[in-house]
Amino acid sequence: MVLVKSTLAAILLMFGSILSAATFADTRVQGVVEVVWGDPPAETQQPAHFRIQVRSDAGQIIVVPSDGPERDALARLAGSRVELTIGAEAADGSPELRFLRMIATEQGDAMLGGAVLGSQPWVSLLCKFGDVAAEPEDLAFFQGMYANQPGGLDHYWREQSYDLIDVVGSTAFAWVTLPNPQTFYVPTPGSGTSANLNRIFDDCTAAVDPVVDFSNGGNPFVGINLMLNERLDCCAWGGTRFATLDGISKSWRTTWNPPFAYANQGVIAHEMGHGFGLPHSNNFDNDGNPYDSHWDVMSSATASAINDPTYGRLGKHTLAYHKDRLAWISAAQRFEPSSNGSYTITIDALALANTDNYRMARLNIDGSSRYYVIEVRDQIGYDGNLPGRAVIISEISSGRSEPAWVVDGDVPPANANNNEGSMWRVGEVFTDAAAQIRVEVLSATANGFEVGITVGPDLPDGVFDDGFE
Ligand SMILES: [Zn+2]
Repeated sequence: MVLVKSTLAAILLMFGSILSAATFADTRVQGVVEVVWGDPPAETQQPAHFRIQVRSDAGQIIVVPSDGPERDALARLAGSRVELTIGAEAADGSPELRFLRMIATEQGDAMLGGAVLGSQPWVSLLCKFGDVAAEPEDLAFFQGMYANQPGGLDHYWREQSYDLIDVVGSTAFAWVTLPNPQTFYVPTPGSGTSANLNRIFDDCTAAVDPVVDFSNGGNPFVGINLMLNERLDCCAWGGTRFATLDGISKSWRTTWNPPFAYANQGVIAHEMGHGFGLPHSNNFDNDGNPYDSHWDVMSSATASAINDPTYGRLGKHTLAYHKDRLAWISAAQRFEPSSNGSYTITIDALALANTDNYRMARLNIDGSSRYYVIEVRDQIGYDGNLPGRAVIISEISSGRSEPAWVVDGDVPPANANNNEGSMWRVGEVFTDAAAQIRVEVLSATANGFEVGITVGPDLPDGVFDDGFE
C-alpha cells in the first residue's frame, strides 16, 4: 500500500477536547474515512468547504487538514476502513499523521469514490429543530422527489447513468422533532462551518428509529438525505458517514440539507453526487470558486438548468470525467489513444441515452498525471437548458480539489463558462503544444461532432482559434 505521510496542523477530537501530539504519540488508529463537502447557497458567492476525517473505532474523530498532499489519496478512500499512525512531533512542532493501509472489509463498502452501479435506495429523514415548528414542505413533496417522472430523482439518475443506477425503493418519512433547539446544533445559523453534522445525524436517525428500518427489509438503504426545517451553518453538506443503524455498520452516503437545498432538486442531486463520491469540477478562471461551470451539476448545481414548477432547478449531467470514475462509460465508449498519431472519431452528446459512437476521449500527457477529456454536450434531456451544442474540453489534474477544469480558450478566461471560449465549435482548434495534443472540431454529426485528434511531437499546423500554444 502506498505510504502517505503528512504533517497535521491540528488533530481535533470533536467530542470535546483537542489532543496534543504527545497524547497520540506513536498511536495506531483504525477507523473509517469520512469526507463531506459543504456548499453555500449560490447567491451568497461564499467559498466551498471540504472535510476529511477518520472516525476511529473508539469513536474519536481525527480531522485531516484539507491543505495537505494526502488529501486526494484519503478522499479517494472515502468510506474505507484504514489504519493510521499518529506519530512523533515533526520539526515544526505539529504531530505527524501516517496513513498506513486500507483494510478490506466484508461489506465491500470501500472506495466509495469508485464505481457506483445498480439500485441505490436512499431515505429522506425530515427532522425539525426542537424550537422550530415550521414544515417547509410536506411528506408528499419529499416522496415525490424520488419519482421516476421528469423532475424526479429516480428519473434523473437513470438518465444521468444510462440506466446503470436507479434509486428505486427510495422513500421519505414524516417529520420528526430533534431533541434540541437549532442553536444547539448550529451555533451560528446561516454562517460559519460549525454545524454539528455528527450530532444532527445521530439525533435525526435516532428520532426516526421507531418508524424507519434502515435495513429496509433486506435491501438496505445506501444513502440518507437529512432534510432540516431551518438553516444549518454556511452550507448544505454531502459525503459519507459511518454508523451502525438497525444492525448495519457501514459508510452511509449522507447529505445534510437546509431548506435552500431542497428548494432546487439540482442541489439535492449535487449533494447526492458527493454521496456517490464525486468532487466538484470548475471552470478555468482559477478564482477558487468551484461553482462557476455551467457544464456540470457538480459545479454550479442550478446554472443553465431546467426549471420544474415543483422541484425548482433540476440537476443537469455531470462531466464525462466524473461518469468515467463512476464506471458509467464503457471501455468501448472511451477513446484513449495508446500511441502517437492522428485520429478522427465521432463523439456523441453525453446526455444521449444510447450511442454506438464515443462518449468521451481521454488524452494522456506523456510523463504526467495530467490529461484531457473531450466530450460533447447538447441540449438534450436534463442538459436541455445548457448554453448550446459544443465540444467541451476538460483538463484533469487529480492533485487539486476540483480535478476537472473546463478549458476556456478566452484570454482572460470568463468568470462563468457559458461562453464561446469554453464551447469548441466546428473549425476551432485546441492545441496544448507542450503536451503535444491537438483537438480540432471537424464537423457536426447527427448527435455530436466529428473530432480530429493528434497526439505526439508532429502536430499539424492549424489555425489556433482558441487554446494554448
Ligand atoms: Zn458541493
